[in-house]
Amino acid sequence: MSLALPSTFAIHFQPQRLPRVCLALSGDTVEDMLAAGESMARDNPFIEFRLDYLKQPLPALPKIHRFLETHQYVTAIGTCRRAENGGKFKGSLPAQLEVLNKALAAGCQIVDLELQSAQKTKLEAIARLRGRSGLILSFHDFRATRNLEETLEKMRAIPADFYKIVTTATTLSDNVTMMKFLQTHGGKHALIGLCMGEQGIISRVLGVRAGSAFTFGAVDPSAGLFTAPGQIGARELRNVYRIDQVDAATRIYGVAGDPVEHSLSPVIMNTALRRENVNGVYLPLHARTLKDLMRCVREIPLHGLSITMPYKQAILPFLDNTDAHTTKTGACNTVVRGQEGKLYGFNTDIAGVIRPLEQRITIEGAKILVLGAGGAARAAVFGLKERGAEVWILNRTAAKGQKLARQAKARTIKRADLRKASFDVIINATPVGMGNTRDCPLKDEEIQARVVFDMVYDPVETHLLQVARSKGISVIPGVEMFVQQAARQFEIWTGKPAPAGDMLRAVTVALQERMAAQKRRSA
Ligand code: NAP
Repeated sequence: MSLALPSTFAIHFQPQRLPRVCLALSGDTVEDMLAAGESMARDNPFIEFRLDYLKQPLPALPKIHRFLETHQYVTAIGTCRRAENGGKFKGSLPAQLEVLNKALAAGCQIVDLELQSAQKTKLEAIARLRGRSGLILSFHDFRATRNLEETLEKMRAIPADFYKIVTTATTLSDNVTMMKFLQTHGGKHALIGLCMGEQGIISRVLGVRAGSAFTFGAVDPSAGLFTAPGQIGARELRNVYRIDQVDAATRIYGVAGDPVEHSLSPVIMNTALRRENVNGVYLPLHARTLKDLMRCVREIPLHGLSITMPYKQAILPFLDNTDAHTTKTGACNTVVRGQEGKLYGFNTDIAGVIRPLEQRITIEGAKILVLGAGGAARAAVFGLKERGAEVWILNRTAAKGQKLARQAKARTIKRADLRKASFDVIINATPVGMGNTRDCPLKDEEIQARVVFDMVYDPVETHLLQVARSKGISVIPGVEMFVQQAARQFEIWTGKPAPAGDMLRAVTVALQERMAAQKRRSA
């Protein structure tokens, strides 16, 4: 094969027909790259070969050529980013251009050249490259999201088919900046724009509706196969965030907190949205400040929010109105944005406690022990009292338990008295047992109840639940609460009944996968 000749099969790409997700193929060897391409190209026929990840890109090109010959439905980008511009290629500028030219000959229809390399290259050489392919002129800012207009102005001095500007989000609001830029200029130029970093997720999913020609997806971020910080898996972009369906009418929801990286809410909520055919997408929003979050609520605009640690109380002053459960517990876990922009707060943790219980017992008159006096315990105690249960509180810090008991008109109990007491239900509202430890909040002989409800949901089967089961006690795992509080949020936002069964299956599978990944890592 002569790599010097233009490929005969590389038809010129059609920018308007490109898919929304380009799969960024990385890997130490071309074999790894092509194995990932082989398994994913059918679903994702738009691929970027990150040639700079290979120790020697040139000898790999014949294999890429053969791959593209046998996968003619694939549109391929060849990228060989130099180390000084954020890539891994340590060679000279002429060496970079040689790789890109040969990538074209190997069948790539598009090449990516950084602005910094292009500025040092004769325009005729760039024109020659472009004459045989589509050219993406790219710029990466690994620190911030800034000077977007000026950067585009500089880029426009060099004719290209796409101008790609990738920045780093250090706040959620940086996504707003990027998307406004895409909205303003996306109609005039073929732009690709997104923000890197965990906080850039909004732009990765919504950038395509703001005016980005496409976005990039990773092979498998959990296995370290990604080419930029914060890159989402290509499969996840399509299957969880349904990027192909995102349009102007898509409502945006999210879970806001710090941290939210390991939140299972996106899995469960996107499952529900898809199942019920709601044109909406739900994103993890890592908000370092509430001010930042509130700017996004207004500007994006966000239709609904799940609020998690540490903002459940701090969000209250930003709300125009709250439901009775929020007022009672002093904590809000759900926000809905009304048509007129007003923000309404709800607490669905109470529904998360009550719904699984009322499926098993009559709550009115039931004797219930709540372990803990934090936020989750508050929701349980107030919710159960409202339904007429007799509630006892046991907390590590006795004074906090007593305070909650006074507020909710419940009682406290001393640990020493547990052996003599029996309850209809024991609820664990402490984190003891989390993270696959064998810790248990109570000793075997202290567990005397008809039902044991553990709010901890990771692992699904805690040690407390195992002990309870072994004593013949009926158990409620924390995932049920997690699903029911989410189901109530879904109902508040959409007015539709939530597909709780599907949500439970999705979260159980996600937890099992997480556990398997942890085991693989520690093996
Ligand atoms: P929180 O506000 O921090 O309260 C934690 C409570 O647990 C406090 O009362 C604390 O006692 C007690 N505690 C902490 N470590 C303890 C230990 N080693 N031994 C005994 N008591 C201990 O937390 P939270 O928001 O209420 O959450 C509590 C648990 O519920 C977490 O595991 C959370 O994941 C889970 N949760 C689950 C769901 C769900 O949907 N399944 C929803 C919400 C919460 P002190 O007062 O002495 O510090």
